[in-house]
Parts: sequence; structure tokens; C-alpha cells
Amino acid sequence: MTTSQSSNGEVAQAVLQIRQQLEKSCRECGRDPQEVRLMAVTKTVDPQRVNEAIAAGVTLLGENKAQELCAKYDQYQKDGVEIHFIGHLQTNKVKQIIDKVCMIQSLDSIALAQEIQKQCEKHDRTMDCLVEVNIGNEANKSGVLPEELEDFLVKVSGFSRIHVRGLMSIPPVCEINEEIEQYFCKMQKLFVDIKAKKLDNIHMDFLSMGMSGDYPLAVKYGSTMVRIGTAMFGHRNYT
Ligand SMILES: *Cc1c(COP(=O)(O)O)cnc(C)c1O
Repeated sequence: MTTSQSSNGEVAQAVLQIRQQLEKSCRECGRDPQEVRLMAVTKTVDPQRVNEAIAAGVTLLGENKAQELCAKYDQYQKDGVEIHFIGHLQTNKVKQIIDKVCMIQSLDSIALAQEIQKQCEKHDRTMDCLVEVNIGNEANKSGVLPEELEDFLVKVSGFSRIHVRGLMSIPPVCEINEEIEQYFCKMQKLFVDIKAKKLDNIHMDFLSMGMSGDYPLAVKYGSTMVRIGTAMFGHRNYT
């Protein structure tokens, strides 16, 4: 039995639809679909369904919680698959994930950078990171504030084991498209501005933004990585 048969190929079908939508969105704004990577966000999804997405060609997984990643890690069919950490990361959890992910997209404090540096030294490796930006200046959300981003990057550039590769953002929940567009537009501008500054040891290769409800818009504003959960796996059941 193949895993895709167990849910009648629903996940594979969803992956196909998302890819078609991504291609359409790229065409509409004159971008090459190859520039936009599709990430499967796996929180609460059982490993078998995640493996269905992998069988359907997904090569990038996004994990939110260290504990959940560790619990599911061995069950993933990981050949040719990358795992990125995308959730808020407590410093004491870095050691659990350091050997399982190839990118941390949620770098948001110097304390976290220090711990990543320390764990990378232990494992004799480097870590690609994206800096998470709190683009809506929301009090209850993690991420570096836009006005503090450049200072933060200059500080992080001093960590030899950390390679900053770009920015990530989760904009505020918005009722209307115009509102979310404004945040994506701000992110794109930050990304382009920082890139132009050519800071030492700081690279702007990836702009990670766009989720199930808004990824076509994120593509319009230069996203190079869309993070999709619900549209691929259905609604999450947290119980
Ligand atoms: C859950 C989550 C997503 C995916 O959200 P959907 O709306 O289900 O596509 C993307 N990014 C992060 C950081 C998430 O936590």
C-alpha cells in the first residue's frame, strides 16, 4: 500500500492545485515559478499525511515546535527533503533541533543567536537563518520590529556560525486584501532596502511570506517561499 492511497490522494491533489495557483500567480506578475518555493507546514499533521505531500513532490517542510519535530522526525521520508524551523524558538530548545533542520526562519533575538552559535560550535556546523520581522508592530507577536531590523542584522553579522539568508514574516490577521497587501509591500521594501546595503555576512536570498489564505498576494510582492498548511492538509485539529 502506498501512503497516498490511504486518504484517496487528497493531499496530492491539494499539492497539485497549490502548484497550479502558484504558477498562475507568478505568470500574472511576470515572475518565474521556479523562484517561489512551496513549503508544507506540518503542525498537527500526522507523519503519514506529511509523507503523502513528500510523495507528491514537496521537498520542504516547516516545523513550529521542537517537541513535535522530534516526535515525528524519524517517521518522515526525508530523502531529498529539507526541514526548516518556523515557530517561535525558545533558547533551551535549540539543542533539540540543531541537527534536524537546515534553516531557522524565526531568528528574533540576540539571545537566540547566541544559543544557535553555541550549538553550531558543538556540532561543528553553520546554520542558515531568516530574521523574523514583526511587520505589524504587534505587541503579542515575536519578531524584530522593522525600525530595529538593521541594527539587529549588524549585531547578528558578528556570529560566525550564523548565515542570515533573508527575512520571514507573519503579518497581522487582516479582513481585507488591501490591508494584507500593505504589509507584504512593506516587507518587500525592507528586503530590497537591506539587500542594497550589502551588510557584511548578511544575505537577502529568501523572502518567506504567504500562507494558505494569502499566498497569491505574497507572490505579487516578491515572496520566494510560501508556507502552506491548511490548503494542503485541511483544517487543523488541535485536540
Ligand atoms: C501555521 C503556519 C503557517 C501555515 O498557515 P496556514 O494558514 O495553515 O497555511 C505558516 N507559517 C507559520 C509560521 C505557521 O505557524
